Amino acid sequence: MGFLKERTARFYLAAGLCAAAVVAVSVLIHTRAATRFLPEGPEVLRVSTGTFTSSLDAALKAEGLGDSERYRVSQALRGKLDLRRLRPQDSYSVSFSTSGALLSLSVKRDLRDYYVLPSSGGYSVSVRQAEIKSSSAKASGEITSSLWESMSAAGVPPAVILDYADIFSWSVDFLTEVRDGDRWAVAWNYGSDPSGRAVSQSVAAAYYDGTETGRKTAAAYAGGYYDEQGDSLRSMFLRAPLHYRRISSYFTNHRFHPVLKIFRPHQGIDYAAPAGTPVSAVADGTVIYSGWKGANGRLVILRHGSGYESTYGHLSRIAKGARKGRRVAQGDLIGNVGSSGLSSGPHLDFRVKLNGTPLNFLKMKYRSSGSVSGNAKASIAAAIRALGE
Ligand SMILES: [Zn+2]
Repeated sequence: MGFLKERTARFYLAAGLCAAAVVAVSVLIHTRAATRFLPEGPEVLRVSTGTFTSSLDAALKAEGLGDSERYRVSQALRGKLDLRRLRPQDSYSVSFSTSGALLSLSVKRDLRDYYVLPSSGGYSVSVRQAEIKSSSAKASGEITSSLWESMSAAGVPPAVILDYADIFSWSVDFLTEVRDGDRWAVAWNYGSDPSGRAVSQSVAAAYYDGTETGRKTAAAYAGGYYDEQGDSLRSMFLRAPLHYRRISSYFTNHRFHPVLKIFRPHQGIDYAAPAGTPVSAVADGTVIYSGWKGANGRLVILRHGSGYESTYGHLSRIAKGARKGRRVAQGDLIGNVGSSGLSSGPHLDFRVKLNGTPLNFLKMKYRSSGSVSGNAKASIAAAIRALGE
């Protein structure tokens, strides 16, 4: 008797503490289930939620479910869900009656809800796709330190900031060309799951208006991005060999962004950057040199189309994919910034040649890979105008 009382008290407490969970579960349980299983009053229900730090079996055992019931629940789920692949970001919610009988179990994984209910001596499982709600948002601001900090402060999610940097990666180097007072705007669409967590996002329109860069605009159209003239933002060359997204994921703490500086002591560009900073191919090409070369230290040379070559010197490490003879795609990792060879500190020595003659890469004319006109161009321009000034 004492044991029963204690249990009841615990149920009460659990129900009280888990008010939010109770609300969640009442949404979760079908009306059919509600009339069939749910007794009246919150004190008769114990609801518990959690994530999978180990197995489903361990979680259910911790919830007090007996051996044979755990076995039957697992058997029921097994055909629909790979129980070995549950991860800490997957969650469950379980409810019991006052007598300790399992009323329902819900396992959430990959936007699916695996819903387990007692059914004629065993358990049945129904699978439901989480409903994704589509929304849109926009934000704008002025740079006071870095792009990352300015956009974060305005509430732009990290994934959208990286997409934004990718969209302009052929025309703007957000690591060296950002100046205080530059203005930016972005509109994006996103989907969120029932818990409100964003599960997808895509930039709809954007601009960057900077003293170094001029005004750059973009709007999504047919899987690509175009400016208000209808020109595709894609180009043969990335604006810089140090790629914003790669660097952001390399320096995992997004608040830390290395301050990069450009120097021009010779017929190339030196990017001063922390040792280890990932270096990307500026264009599709073939590796024609990969290895140590005197004062250059570890060096990679790429041959691109139309007589262009790009070289990357003083690397601390050359990527596996950048061995001689390999093909690389624009943006591929080819190595990491270092100080190998004749170098006074970590920096990337970057040069571009056309038919053997050094080029001023920063002054190279940006060439769009294509354009659209007519209605497409008009709708792109309208999406950009909708951002405001
Ligand atoms: Zn140099």
